[in-house]
Amino acid sequence: MTKDDVFRPASIVEALRAGPDTRVAAIDTNATPGFDGDKALGERLLTERGAVLSGLQEMLFAEGRTGGTRSVLLILQGMDTAGKGGMVRHVVGHVDPQGVDHTAFGVPTAEEKRHHFLWRISKALPRNGQLGVFDRSHYEDVLVARVRSLVPESIWRGRYDEINRFESEIVREGTTIVKVAMFVSLDEQKKRLAERLERRDKHWKYDPSDVSERALWPQYQQAYQDMLDRTNTDEAPWYVIPCDRKWYSRLAVTELLIDAFERLDLDWPEPTFDIETEKRRLAES
Ligand code: AMP
Ligand code: MG
Repeated sequence: MTKDDVFRPASIVEALRAGPDTRVAAIDTNATPGFDGDKALGERLLTERGAVLSGLQEMLFAEGRTGGTRSVLLILQGMDTAGKGGMVRHVVGHVDPQGVDHTAFGVPTAEEKRHHFLWRISKALPRNGQLGVFDRSHYEDVLVARVRSLVPESIWRGRYDEINRFESEIVREGTTIVKVAMFVSLDEQKKRLAERLERRDKHWKYDPSDVSERALWPQYQQAYQDMLDRTNTDEAPWYVIPCDRKWYSRLAVTELLIDAFERLDLDWPEPTFDIETEKRRLAES
């Protein structure tokens, strides 16, 4: 079996796109949609494709430095232990950090609570030429806010349309949005939480409230289902990533980003000077 037999980037992208039939409760979190290779090949590809991603990102950065106004925004949404932090390290980590606008969204601060839920999101949008990365996002306001009844139903129900309008505006202004919903199984989550308790270097990641959230799994699944059903627009589509196998989820998101960058049809900026003249000037200097 050669690499080309099992690795077709377009198959992965297509297989992950959420559709009207996507059922959160039925997602096989251990699957590797669109990819038949094993872990060794997956890890090798992650390195190779990470380099491709890095080249594309540099072109966007160069475009932004020469007057371009486009950007890409990766939105990572998923339950605890799904691997959002690892995605930032192992996927986004392939590109030049100066081209990345990264924001992790936690419990809103006192100041953030005084504002509309999209206030803090607007402030964190990627600048021209940047790859924005959201570790959690405005979707928390229709997930945890709903499941934990942080706001009345009449409020969170209205947020789906608000989010669609907001994202539509962002896209119109030149940002390509890549929305990634990450799913682990309840069992895999238990293993990962247990590891956080076992290992001294992981204790800092453990949050006792994560265990309480496990009891609300069905409510979260329903909230994720409605999120996918209500905000899976053509302008800003959702991709559903099975995350029990970290190597697969990382390769998958790398492919989603490469796909997004390729659709921008990027090129290196034209020089604003005459190259022959500059060569001559340099030689004579
Ligand atoms: P972590 O990502 O592990 O650092 O945890 C961040 C915590 O912040 C999670 O428990 C989220 O549910 C919580 N959080 C993020 N955004 C919101 C929000 N808009 N409202 C309430 N809690 C939030
Ligand atoms: Mg946490």
